[in-house]
Amino acid sequence: MPQFGGGKKCGRCDKSVYANEEIIAAGTSFHKRGCFTCRDCNKSLDSKTVAERKENNEIYCKACYGRSFGPKGYGYGGGAGALTNTGI
Ligand SMILES: [Zn+2]
Ligand SMILES: [Zn+2]
Repeated sequence: MPQFGGGKKCGRCDKSVYANEEIIAAGTSFHKRGCFTCRDCNKSLDSKTVAERKENNEIYCKACYGRSFGPKGYGYGGGAGALTNTGI
């Protein structure tokens, strides 16, 4: 039996999310207020600033996302280019 009673769970606080307080990103429901935050730095996000990572159904701010998952070598001056083999 499903252990949640028909409601969705917030990806941040794990409590039920109702439609009027729900925002969906990365395939996960979050509370619009308080829980739609970067996983790494807890910064508040909105539909313009969120960076979704569908691989783990998590959301990040652009800065944290770029730092963790961005193109290798992007924004890092002085690198030898050893990691830039994506060809983008
Ligand atoms: Zn929540
Ligand atoms: Zn962040």
